[in-house]
Amino acid sequence: MKKTVILWAALVLMTSFCTKKETPPPAPVQEENPFFSAWTAPFETPPFEKIKEAHYLPAFQAGMDQQKKEIEAITNDSAAPSFANTIEALEKSGALLTKVGNVFFNLTSANTNDEMQKIESAVAPLLARHQDDINLNAKLFERVKAVSGEKDKLGLTAEQARLLEKTYKNFVRGGANLDEAKKAEFRKINEELSVLTQKFGENVLKEDNNFALVLDKKEDLAGLPDSVVQGAAEAARKRGMDAKWVFTLHKPSCIPFFQYSARRELREKLFKAFINRGNNNNAFDNKAILSKIAALRVKKADLLGYKTHADFVLEENMAKTPAGVDKLLDQLWMPALAMAKKEAQELQGLINTEGGSFKLEPWDWWYYAEKLKKAKYDLDDQILKPYFKLENVRDGAFDVAKKLWGLQFVERTDIPKYHPDVKVFEVKEADGTHVGILYTDYFPRPSKRGGAWSNTFRTQSARGGRKVTSLVSNNGNFSLPVSDTPSLLTFEEAQTLFHEFGHALHDLLSNCTYEALAGTNVPRDFVELASQIMENWAGDPEVIKTYAKHYQTGEPIPQALVDKIKNSGLFNQGFATVEYLAASYLDMDWHTLTEAKEQDALAFENAAMSKIGLIPEIVVRYRSPYFQHIFSGGYSAGYYSYIWSEVLDADAFEAFKETSLFDPQTALSFRQNILAKGDTDEAMALYKRFRGREPKVEPLLKRRGFIK
Ligand SMILES: [Zn+2]
Repeated sequence: MKKTVILWAALVLMTSFCTKKETPPPAPVQEENPFFSAWTAPFETPPFEKIKEAHYLPAFQAGMDQQKKEIEAITNDSAAPSFANTIEALEKSGALLTKVGNVFFNLTSANTNDEMQKIESAVAPLLARHQDDINLNAKLFERVKAVSGEKDKLGLTAEQARLLEKTYKNFVRGGANLDEAKKAEFRKINEELSVLTQKFGENVLKEDNNFALVLDKKEDLAGLPDSVVQGAAEAARKRGMDAKWVFTLHKPSCIPFFQYSARRELREKLFKAFINRGNNNNAFDNKAILSKIAALRVKKADLLGYKTHADFVLEENMAKTPAGVDKLLDQLWMPALAMAKKEAQELQGLINTEGGSFKLEPWDWWYYAEKLKKAKYDLDDQILKPYFKLENVRDGAFDVAKKLWGLQFVERTDIPKYHPDVKVFEVKEADGTHVGILYTDYFPRPSKRGGAWSNTFRTQSARGGRKVTSLVSNNGNFSLPVSDTPSLLTFEEAQTLFHEFGHALHDLLSNCTYEALAGTNVPRDFVELASQIMENWAGDPEVIKTYAKHYQTGEPIPQALVDKIKNSGLFNQGFATVEYLAASYLDMDWHTLTEAKEQDALAFENAAMSKIGLIPEIVVRYRSPYFQHIFSGGYSAGYYSYIWSEVLDADAFEAFKETSLFDPQTALSFRQNILAKGDTDEAMALYKRFRGREPKVEPLLKRRGFIK
């Protein structure tokens, strides 16, 4: 978890607004704008070395102009509306805009700077307006409606019928049925939302970089393992500080501090900084912004005739309604909370045994959990890390894909990159056929947002006899190499790497006609199936042994350690589940509001958390002011998706366990029925074709230890 798929197209659709922000005049560009010519690097990959900040705005502008002309050609067509001259033509439009948007929005996540952020603020409302110009174009909608009205007589393929249905629905959901006055209001809301959601994300990045715990006394490092101390010294050196140690709010820096620092007051200080990002009443405060976002979403849902924003979002998902989401969350919450309370008692017991005369607080949980894990299972992250060298884990993921589908991954050094940390792989079938390109970008830096995600520079399609293959990017914020030690991952980071790799496979193995229906363009609560199922292989004892090798000796991980990983699998699951479910409830609460009234963000969050009885020792995984998934990332009323997809992935992985881990038939069926299919059919229909039935919840309950 803590992983997202960002689809900027989805962002543009959901966003929107109204500031009178002037578009800065484009800086003079000497050389040719690379977005305006064909890309000649291998596989037509983006020529990053030629793309300068000054190229984006003119390219966005030209992309919007071009699509406008394409739309005009559709609406002015004297021929009667047909599937080809309206639906297909519309799907095909905007190629230049997609080309620039895919590069730009990948880089504002992975490698941004002040100038990129300025461009993003300028372009967000323009894109929202442009999208609305299309969705609210009455002449265009008339044609779409006309084709839709004839749908049964057109002899369409299943995929074409699906594209027609989705296109029609997108117009309705995009406000096409509103009267003129309401259309104007709708536009204003969308534009306003585009600016606010962009600002929200920008503020979180600023806050992530805004705080550093600087230590200059050795005694303040008590409890920290050598590798953590070295990492902190290196972070200090990078900031020009010698003989000091710096801890930041980036997870690979602060989580080990929470786990190992014996200095309770310092843990508290860093933890409080972590949970107060966006809540410091400074220029980057997100409380008013998120409250405005939530209120605007109420207004928008109301205009479109939905009871709440969640109703609007969920009708497109497998869950269908807020009640559908609640049903799953409620099934899990009480057993998870009961387990977390038991865990809290155990941790308190440990504190008491050690003679600590204080009550367990959130900044103690990680620390004592780590100690308890060591005591109970003789296991800690530091013992495991030498076996999880980043390159070995990555090759382990590649190897799983090879065993399942015969895929090969060949590093290419002749393909342009946007940062030296990036590595580029060509993906091929067993017979050498080109599949696509995978970029990996695994290390944190100030120019990158937190977390891990997968994204595309180009989505698969097959139009006019030409197959366009995917260019996919996997991003992480994993432990950095330190001096002569390579990047060594925690086991959780290894699972995250496999997770994002699963998203990449979903895009790479897509075999669809239309880009709009291809790859990971699927419902939010279905998209995490392909990613989370890969975590099962990452953690399987047989598979671990194949890729977890000591970085110095090359020795495979000893059986005893593999057993310990397996035995400790249920450890701290109450905490992890509660922390996650609490965030899912918080998301649903923000998005089932029925009154477009701005809220006191903190009071609202407190009320939401006390309603479910969250215990004070656990803080919701994302507090509202830095809950990027839902306020800037396209997961609004969708954070539950991870656990929804976990029902699917636990049930789907059973299909492999019932046969064998790499059963060729099951693998082929998963590829053909799920990975290749994108959004060309209802998610449940795809799933049933793979599994032969609807998913069962029991494998998930068992995995989390809620039932035996
Ligand atoms: Zn994911």
